[in-house]
Amino acid sequence: MNSRARVIIMNSALGPLDYRVPQGMDVAPGSIVVAPLGPRQLIGVVWEAERMPSEAEVGDNRLRNLIATVGAPPIPAPLRRLIEWTADYYLAPPASVLRMALASTSALDGARTVTEYRATGEMPTRMTPQRAQALNRIGERQGLIRELAAAAGVTDAVIRGLVKAGAIEAVEVAIDSPYPEPEPDFAQPALSADQAAAAAALSAGVTDRRFAPTLLDGVTGSGKTEVYFEAIAAAIRTGRQTLVLLPEIALTEPFLTRFAARFGCAPVAWHSDLRQSQRRRAWRAIASGEALVTVGARSALFLPYADLGLIIVDEAHETSFKQEDGVHYHARDVAVMRAKFEGCPVVLASATPAIETRHQVALGRYAELKLPGRYGTAQMPVIEAIDLIAEPPERGRWIAPRLVRAIDETRARGEQVLLFLNRRGYAPLTLCRTCGHRFQCPNCTAWMVEHRLVRRLACHHCGHVEQVPEACPECGNPDTLVACGPGVERIADEVAFYWPDAKRAVVTSDTLWSPAKAAEFVQRMEAGDIDIVIGTQLVTKGYHFPNLTLVGVIDADLGLGGGDLRAAERTFQQISQVAGRAGRERKPGHVFIQTHSPQAAVMQALVKGDADAFYAAETEARREADAPPFGRYAAIIVSSEDRQAAEDVAREIKRAAPECDGMYVYGPAPAPLTMLRGRHRFRLLVHARRALDVQDVIRAWLGGLGWPAKVRVAVDVDPYNFL
Ligand code: ADP
Ligand code: ZN
Repeated sequence: MNSRARVIIMNSALGPLDYRVPQGMDVAPGSIVVAPLGPRQLIGVVWEAERMPSEAEVGDNRLRNLIATVGAPPIPAPLRRLIEWTADYYLAPPASVLRMALASTSALDGARTVTEYRATGEMPTRMTPQRAQALNRIGERQGLIRELAAAAGVTDAVIRGLVKAGAIEAVEVAIDSPYPEPEPDFAQPALSADQAAAAAALSAGVTDRRFAPTLLDGVTGSGKTEVYFEAIAAAIRTGRQTLVLLPEIALTEPFLTRFAARFGCAPVAWHSDLRQSQRRRAWRAIASGEALVTVGARSALFLPYADLGLIIVDEAHETSFKQEDGVHYHARDVAVMRAKFEGCPVVLASATPAIETRHQVALGRYAELKLPGRYGTAQMPVIEAIDLIAEPPERGRWIAPRLVRAIDETRARGEQVLLFLNRRGYAPLTLCRTCGHRFQCPNCTAWMVEHRLVRRLACHHCGHVEQVPEACPECGNPDTLVACGPGVERIADEVAFYWPDAKRAVVTSDTLWSPAKAAEFVQRMEAGDIDIVIGTQLVTKGYHFPNLTLVGVIDADLGLGGGDLRAAERTFQQISQVAGRAGRERKPGHVFIQTHSPQAAVMQALVKGDADAFYAAETEARREADAPPFGRYAAIIVSSEDRQAAEDVAREIKRAAPECDGMYVYGPAPAPLTMLRGRHRFRLLVHARRALDVQDVIRAWLGGLGWPAKVRVAVDVDPYNFL
C-alpha cells in the first residue's frame, strides 16, 4: 500500500514538502526520516502521513521517495504542537524551530560508542610552541579532535600530530550508558510551614497531571528551590520527567551540586558547553524517558521529552530567557505553552516576578504561591542609598566614602564583599585627550570597550577586537588616550588601591564562561579564598554565600537611560537580586546603592523594600501607555550591508502597512544601534491592541512583499531589546 508523508525538512527556506513513503517503510507523524532534496539528503520529521488517495492523482508520480527512517523515537505529539505554535507565534520557519528539537543530529545515528581523545601525560619527543600550548590548554579535557583543537586554539592537525607522537590517546566512550536515578527521599529537608504549604500545592499539581501554571513568588533566600525540589520529588515518584530551566549556564554547576545533595545524584545537564558525546547521550536519554530530571538553558525547552510531568522556570523574570537571534522566542512564555500541550504543571519561580507574570496572576490565569520571609533566622538585608552628588567619591574614583568605610568594617569582621557594576572591561569609552578622537567599532554603532587585562579594545556587540595603540590614530600624539567611566576591571583596580591585601575576583562572562569556571568560583568563595568580588549581572542570581554580607551597587542608574519600557522594572529586579546575595544566613546583610537620583521611585522602592507600590505604579503606567502586558509590540528589523537597500525596503514595508483598527506602525527609523555587525538596521515598531492577531496581520503584510537577497527582514514579536 502506497502512502505519502508531509515532512518538515531541516531547511529554513522551505515549508513542509510531500514525499512518497516507499514499500516496506513504516512512518507515522513524528517519525524522524532522511529525505532527498535535490542532490542532498536532509533530516526531517514527518508531520502528516496518509495513504495516497489514488495512484493516478496528478503530481503523485513526481513525489520522491523518502530514503530512510532514523533509529530514534518519534517526536511526540505535544512537542510537534509546540513547534507549530512557536513557529506561528514568533513568525519563524518551522524548520528553524525543529532544529532546536533535533539539537543533536549525531544522536540520531545508531552508534553506541564515540572515539574521544585525551592527554596521556607523555611528552612528545619533538615539542613545538603550538604543541606546548595545546597540551597546556587541554589539561584534563577530553573530547573529539575538533573539540580539543577548539579548546586549545590550534588546528586539528596539531592534535593529530600529538596523537601520533603518543602525547594524546584515543578512548572509546559509551554514549548509551545509563544515568543514575535521582532518589526522591535521599535528603529531604524539614520545611517551614509556608514552605510545606507551597510544596504540597505544587506536588498535588504534579500528581493531578494537568496544566497548572503557578507563580512561586518568594523573597531571595526564602527557599524557593527547596520548595520546587519537593515538586520534582513528586514527579520522580510518578516516573515522569522534569525540566528545570535556568537563565544562565553559569548557574547550572551550583545547581547540579545542590540537586545532588538533595537527590543523591546530579540531574542531566543540557547547555552549549557540552561535548558532542555528552549532548548525544543526554538527547537519547531525554527522548527515551530515562532522563528523569534535566536542567538546562533555554535550548533545553525544545528537547523531545518522552513523558514530561513538570516544568520549572527558575529566576523566571530574567530577560536572558528571551532569545535574541535565530528564532526570537521567550523561553518563559514557550515553557508555559509546552506545559499546556503536555498537560503538566509549570512553575515560574522568582523573587521579582515580571509585570507580565503578575498580570497573569491578577487575571486568575496563573495561581500564586508566596513565601514572604527568608528561611530560618536570616533577615532581609538593610538597603541604603548613597547620593553621589552629596557624597561623591574621591576624584578619579568610583567608590563613595561611606561604601569604603563599610567595606573596611566588613573586612575587619572577616566577611565577604560583592561590588556590582553591570559593565564588562576596564572602561566603556576610550578617547584622545588631545584631539577628542573616540574609538568606535568599525562594524557597529558602539564604542570600543577597553579590556585592560588582555590589553585589547573590544566591541561587545560583534566581538571585533583591536590592540590598544601607543598613539592616537587620528592626531598621532603618543600617550594621550584616556579611559572614560568605569567597568568592573577599573573597580578591581580601585579595590587594589584601597585594600592592597584583599583577595579580589572579577566575575563576568569573560572570566566565567563555562560551568567549570563557575564551579571554581563557587569553591573559592566558599573556601574564603576571595574577599571582594567585583561582578556584572552574572553574580546577581542564584548564588548562596553565607559569609557574603555587604553588597555595593556602583552605579544604580546605569540601566535607567535609553528609553526602554522595562528600564525601571529591570533596575528594580537587578538590584533586588544583587541585594539578595547579602546576609543569606545568620550574619545580617547590608546593601549600598550609589545613585545620582536617590529620590527616583525605583530607588525609593528598593530602600523601603516596597515592591508592591513600585509594581502598582509601573503597571498603571503600562496600562496608560497600552504597553505590554496590556498592548503588544512587534519589531520589524530590516538590515543590509547596503544602507540604501535596507532603507528602501523599510520604507516599502511601511507603505504597504495595512490599515488596521487598533494597530499603529512607527518608523522606519534607524535602529538605536544603527549599525550592527556591519549591517545597517532600520526598524519599524508595530503597536497593537492585545485582541488583534498581530501575527496574522504581519504574515499577510510581509508575505505580499519581496526584497533583494542582500536585505534581511526579521520580526521580533514581544521584543525585549529596544536597541
Ligand atoms: P531562594 O531560591 O528562594 O533564593 P533557597 O532555596 O536558595 O532560596 O534557600 C536559601 C537557603 O536556605 C539555602 O541555603 C537553602 O538550602 C536554605 N533552606 C531553605 N529552606 C530550607 C529548609 N527547609 N531546610 C534547610 N535549609 C533550607
Ligand atoms: Zn562591533
